[in-house]
Amino acid sequence: MRFDIMTLFPQFVEGVLGESIIGRAQKSGAITVNTYNIRDYSKDKHHRVDDTPYGGGRGMLMMAPPIYDCYEDIVAKSDPEAKRHVIYMSPRGKVFTQEKAKELAGYDQLIILCGHYEGVDVRVIEEIVDEEVSIGDFVLTGGELPACIVTDAVARLVDGVLADPECYEKESISSGLVEYPQYTRPFEFHGKCVPEVLISGHHKNIEKWRTEAAIEETKRLRPDLLEK
Ligand code: SAM
Repeated sequence: MRFDIMTLFPQFVEGVLGESIIGRAQKSGAITVNTYNIRDYSKDKHHRVDDTPYGGGRGMLMMAPPIYDCYEDIVAKSDPEAKRHVIYMSPRGKVFTQEKAKELAGYDQLIILCGHYEGVDVRVIEEIVDEEVSIGDFVLTGGELPACIVTDAVARLVDGVLADPECYEKESISSGLVEYPQYTRPFEFHGKCVPEVLISGHHKNIEKWRTEAAIEETKRLRPDLLEK
């Protein structure tokens, strides 16, 4: 799967997505992440990408032309047959969920626009964006962290990124519950021991314990999931 991220801060995104599992997935070729500096597409001699909003008000808005030209360049460099989707990271959008991550993982190419300052001229959103996606009901300074979050959550559903699809099928949210409590060595820590059933080697009993524990944890931490 290919991710194309339009941003004013490509190094920010590259730094985050170049590490750990997502970094390795790029090296192995399971996914491709391209970043584009929107400033490179400004035709202004000072490479300006923002201006004051019409009608007044605080802050600066990202201008439509550099974003549009950046998008056109990405499209020109893309496979015309690819199933493509364009999202704008925005607190106005529908809140991102694991369901949405699964849906987005169904595309061949995801193009992500990161806003900054007070946001983006709406006309370019109307021209190129399929949907606005929020990562929660709060406001950040820019769309870079949200873009990294969406890319990470989608990429780990792509074949070859995680060692085993069971990794995500059984974990929190995907299963409809939060995950059961997990333990590793040492057996005893601060006087607390690992539940005996987990060292019994009895797989059926372990599964039963894990299912019951997941239900208990969901009641305690996320009762809203049980209502769903
Ligand atoms: N003035 C905008 C508004 O009220 O909707 C907020 C702009 S915000 C300061 C700057 C940029 O950060 C946005 O254009 C968006 O790309 C990103 N952003 C901020 N909060 C976000 C969130 N919860 N989810 C996704 N993107 C977010």
